[in-house]
Amino acid sequence: MGFRLANVGGRGALVDGDHYYDLEELADGALSPDPMAALTTPDLLAELASGLGGHQPTGLLTEATLGPPVPRPRNSYGVGLNYRSHAEEASMEIPEVPLVFTKFPSCITGPFDEVRLRSDRCDYEGELVVVVGPGGADIDPADAWDHVVGLTVGQDVSDRPAQFMNKPPQMNLGKSFDTFGPIGPVVASPDCLDDPDDLTLTTHVNGEARQDDRTSNMIFPVADLVAFLSRITTLATGDIIFTGTPDGTGAAQGLFLADGDVITTTIDGIGTMANTCVRVADWR
Ligand code: ZN
Repeated sequence: MGFRLANVGGRGALVDGDHYYDLEELADGALSPDPMAALTTPDLLAELASGLGGHQPTGLLTEATLGPPVPRPRNSYGVGLNYRSHAEEASMEIPEVPLVFTKFPSCITGPFDEVRLRSDRCDYEGELVVVVGPGGADIDPADAWDHVVGLTVGQDVSDRPAQFMNKPPQMNLGKSFDTFGPIGPVVASPDCLDDPDDLTLTTHVNGEARQDDRTSNMIFPVADLVAFLSRITTLATGDIIFTGTPDGTGAAQGLFLADGDVITTTIDGIGTMANTCVRVADWR
């Protein structure tokens, strides 16, 4: 029995079907309302989730304002070229070790928040996002899932000109503009999912299908990414990892994001985000 954790107006909440239950109320004040604090007590969340039937829901999800379920990750990593299909469409070599960059935590935003574009060549990248639970260093790949508190949906929005403005190119700024990291709608614990290593991931723009793949096609699966990163930087609760995107990105097709576009990102078993793009002043 797992749990689904949401951020409703800045407060941690468990989700069951169409309803949410405020965590502090559920725990009679024994739990902080901060969603970040909730990530440190997955066993308690699972216990509370199994007893939701005896409680009145706090409200309907459709009427709630959802923030990012991990609002303040300490570190936020991205992984480039982690699907063969995307490496091929980008005419890049298949990496032999994970190609890791940073998405600054300040870019993280909610599952229904707007994405602010600062050029005419911004792109979508639908991704599975790993949320680290118990941290650690030198994690064995065989134990790596024990260090994952849950999974969520993410968009690794990317400003391609900023990504390639210098030689050599670097990803960090182009992927870290404010609002470029929508995540949500919930963090689903791995035991909510039939097979957390094989999830359907889709991205639509204005209802048109752009990306459709399975996370089992990752070159470096979740366990390998957690183990790899933990040999370089000690992982901590609430760190997040954007695990890479499959093919179908806009850059490969000349289909960049524009003012008013709605990016819809779905991972079966976790949920759907919908983010509306707003074109603001150029960064350059
Ligand atoms: Zn990406």
